[in-house]
Amino acid sequence: MVGEAKSSNEFAPALIGGEWLFVPARGGPVINPASSQLIGHHAMVGDGEIHAAVDHAVRGFRYWRGVAASERSQVLLKAASLLLERQNEIARTLSREQGKPLAEAMGEVARSADVTQWYGQEARRIYGRLLPVADQAVRLAVEKEPIGPVAAFTPWNFPLSQSAKKVAAALAAGCSVILKGSEEAPFCCVQFVQAFIDAGVPAGVIQLLFGEPARISQILVPHPAVRKVSFTGSVPVGRMLAAVAGQHLKYATMELGGHAPALIFADAPLEEAVRSLVSGKYRNAGQVCVSPTRLLVESQVFPDFLRRFSELAAAVRVGDAFDPVSDMGPLVHERRLHVMQELVSDAVQKGAKLVTGGKRIDRAGFFFEPTVLANVPLDARIMNEEPFGPIAIVNPFANEEEAVAEANRLPYGLASYVYTVSAARTRRLCSALEAGMVSVNGQPIGLPEAPFGGVKDSGFGREGGIEGLDEYLVTKFVAERAW
Ligand code: NAD
Repeated sequence: MVGEAKSSNEFAPALIGGEWLFVPARGGPVINPASSQLIGHHAMVGDGEIHAAVDHAVRGFRYWRGVAASERSQVLLKAASLLLERQNEIARTLSREQGKPLAEAMGEVARSADVTQWYGQEARRIYGRLLPVADQAVRLAVEKEPIGPVAAFTPWNFPLSQSAKKVAAALAAGCSVILKGSEEAPFCCVQFVQAFIDAGVPAGVIQLLFGEPARISQILVPHPAVRKVSFTGSVPVGRMLAAVAGQHLKYATMELGGHAPALIFADAPLEEAVRSLVSGKYRNAGQVCVSPTRLLVESQVFPDFLRRFSELAAAVRVGDAFDPVSDMGPLVHERRLHVMQELVSDAVQKGAKLVTGGKRIDRAGFFFEPTVLANVPLDARIMNEEPFGPIAIVNPFANEEEAVAEANRLPYGLASYVYTVSAARTRRLCSALEAGMVSVNGQPIGLPEAPFGGVKDSGFGREGGIEGLDEYLVTKFVAERAW
């Protein structure tokens, strides 16, 4: 029986084999990004604890794979309803440590509950199939089995919903999961895992680690007992983890960065396109892998689009997550401010026009102005590196061919956006764009039932939908003859 993570307000413990580990002497700091003040500490697990987690995960897997799908389903449905019951409390924790406005945090908890519920329902629909045979003594079966203990690494931008997609799919499939939560936003991860424990997930089936990410992955990824790695984060780290996973012939899901192009054509309703893109760009302070970053605008509407987009960007209200008028919070960490500043300076120095924003806001915390850069040359760093912050690039294009060439120029291929009323153009672009997801006219992506993921350097594998469940299953073919 797993207990409750008490006094999580000051120390975010790890959960290993059903024990919440409070070792404040070995804690890492947790900072409120809106004030730069220390909130508390998170656990820093040592090598022995990481190995112990794997041993528990092996035992947890042996047990959980034998639990009826209907029962696993019930547990997940219960976890989903507990997340919703605790929505207020968890959202407040998330806002305090990650900085996103409370309304966004409430939405993230709701989405985490939704995806947990969806996988709870889907757990009952993991079917195999029988192949047709002429000989009635023969049975040819394709069976689906859980892959084994999973190591899941989740980042700080959506510390709950990224965890929910991995944990719910793995548990639905019958796997045990070791979650490496975000050290930047650990307290909401503890509350998230607590909901699963309270719903009846047994000891060892779900575990939570915090510590030195590189050390944890160095042990978990090559460990022979860990059968699957799922990582969300940056391309360089993903590339490195995928290489180690490949060396050890492990299945892996890599949800990495993006540099999403948005193609805005002159026939699109301008005001609707601008509003949809302003809200998409500055949500979570732009710290979103599918954030629209290169806004490519057909030349004849470029001046009007740039003017209106910049007006609305400048009107985004930046402030503390708990101030109800805040549209955008701080960046998660001071290091991200420096990255923003460098990207803006480099672009301006290479000839880009800084239309609005462009600097740190003079107050406590890690606030950066909603920023618009126009006519950014291709050799600027920001045209090639994912900014992962509140900076939009607005550049003109002459025709569809040129827009597609620019959209596909980068090695990233996560999300892309199209704004047009032409159905024929929509069909052409949905085929031409090299991306895992295409959103047309602001239609949201990232639903529990839809596959989420990228192509090229944005990674491989999918989260969400039946594709996301498949990532935790292996196929066994059984050829049987009755004697
Ligand atoms: P970072 O590369 O240091 O870390 C990104 C994530 O990877 C963090 O969650 C971190 O804990 C984890 N990580 C880092 N090294 C690791 C290792 N060796 N093993 C396992 N996990 C490891 O970058 P950062 O400064 O935290 O974030 C900035 C960049 O990360 C952004 O530019 C963005 O591209 C990327 N990022 C992407 C997502 C996403 O949703 N795809 C989320 C967060 C960050």
